[in-house]
Amino acid sequence: MADIRLVGLGKEFDAGGVVAVRDLTLTFREGSTTCLLGPSGCGKTTLMRMIAGLEVPTTGKIFFGDEDVTRLETSKRNLGMVFQYPVVYRGATVREDIGLPLRVEKLPAAHKAARVDEVIALLGLEEYANHPVDKLNSATRQKVAVARAVARQAPIILFDEPITNVDPDFKLQLKRTLRELFSRLNQTIIYVTHDQTEAMTLADDIALMRDGSIEQMAPPRDLYGRPESVFAGWFLGNPGMNFVPVESQPAVAAAVLGGAVPDGVTAVGFRPEDVLISSGGPQRGAVEATLGHVSLATGGQHLARLLHADLVVKAKLPWDSPVATTRGSQVWWSVPLEKVRAFDRHERAVNLVSAEQ
Ligand code: ADP
Ligand code: MG
Repeated sequence: MADIRLVGLGKEFDAGGVVAVRDLTLTFREGSTTCLLGPSGCGKTTLMRMIAGLEVPTTGKIFFGDEDVTRLETSKRNLGMVFQYPVVYRGATVREDIGLPLRVEKLPAAHKAARVDEVIALLGLEEYANHPVDKLNSATRQKVAVARAVARQAPIILFDEPITNVDPDFKLQLKRTLRELFSRLNQTIIYVTHDQTEAMTLADDIALMRDGSIEQMAPPRDLYGRPESVFAGWFLGNPGMNFVPVESQPAVAAAVLGGAVPDGVTAVGFRPEDVLISSGGPQRGAVEATLGHVSLATGGQHLARLLHADLVVKAKLPWDSPVATTRGSQVWWSVPLEKVRAFDRHERAVNLVSAEQ
C-alpha cells in the first residue's frame, strides 16, 4: 500500500499556451478514496494521466510512498485503471477479460482462477461470468472493467469518470456497487468526476479542482459545510450557496452577521437550506423580503426565491412549511450565525471569530 504525493506538479500544453495543472503539492492518503471533483476542463484527466504515467509533467515530482515515480513508465507503476470508455476485448467472456492482466503474473493457475472468482463475487458478476463482455449493458461492462483493475491487487487504482457514459437507468446501480467496493478495498483510490453527488457519495476526501489548482481538499461534509472559498460554496450544493455582497447590500450583510461587518469581509455566504423564513411580522435580526417564484426542489422541498431590492436569496423550505408559498407575500428571513461563512476580496473564507478580535 502507498500514499500518493505530488510535489510542485505542473503540466503545460502547446508550449505553455495551456496550463492544465498548476504547481500542485498534496498527498492522497494511503488506503483512502479521494474524489477529484471539478468542472470540465479544469485539469482532472491531465492530473490522472500524470499519476498513471501516460503524460509527462512539465514541472514537479510524483511519489508513491517513498519511491519517485515521475519518470517511471506506466507498466512499472503497478496501478489499476478504469476509464470513461471501458476497453473491451472482443469475444472474451467476463471471466477471461478479468483474468487478462493476471496472465503476466507468475502465479499458479489455480491461484489466478481463485482471484478472478473473488472479484467476480465482489462485484456481483456471478451470473455473467461466462457471458461475452461485448454483449453486456454499459453498467455491467464497466463493472467488468472495475473487476479487471481490482484483480491485479495493485496498491493504487485510478478511475476517470467511470459512470459518465453509463446509461442513466444503470448509473445508480453502478454507483452503489462502487460505494460498496470502495468501503471494502484497502487500496489508495483516486476517482475523477465532475458530478458532485457522485463525489459526495463515494469519497473519503474530495479534492475540489478549479483551473488547474486544488481549491480545497476535505471530507465531503466539511467541504459542503465549511467551504474555504466562494467557488467551493457555489460549486457544491443544488443550488449552491447564497452570497450577499457587502458593498451593495451593507444592511443585509450586517443583519446576517448579527452586527457590524468585520473589516476585510466583502461577502457573506449561506446555504439555501439554512435560511429560516417566517411570515409572522417583523423580527429582530431578520431581513424583510418579498416571496418570488417558488418551485418544487428535490426531496419534496420548496425552493423559494426571496426578493430584497436587487438581491435574490434562494431558500429551501420543507414541503409542509407553515409559511404561505404565495408569490408576492411578505416574509422575514434569517440564518443561524453558525451557518454563515464570510469571504474576503480574494474570495477566500474569513474566520469570523478571529475577524472580530
Ligand atoms: P478535465 O478532465 O478536468 O475535463 P483535462 O485535463 O482534460 O480536463 O484538460 C485540462 C486542460 O488542458 C483543457 O484546457 C484541455 O483543453 C487541455 N488539454 C488536455 N489535454 C491536452 C492536450 N493533449 N493538448 C493540448 N491541450 C490539452
Ligand atoms: Mg476529463
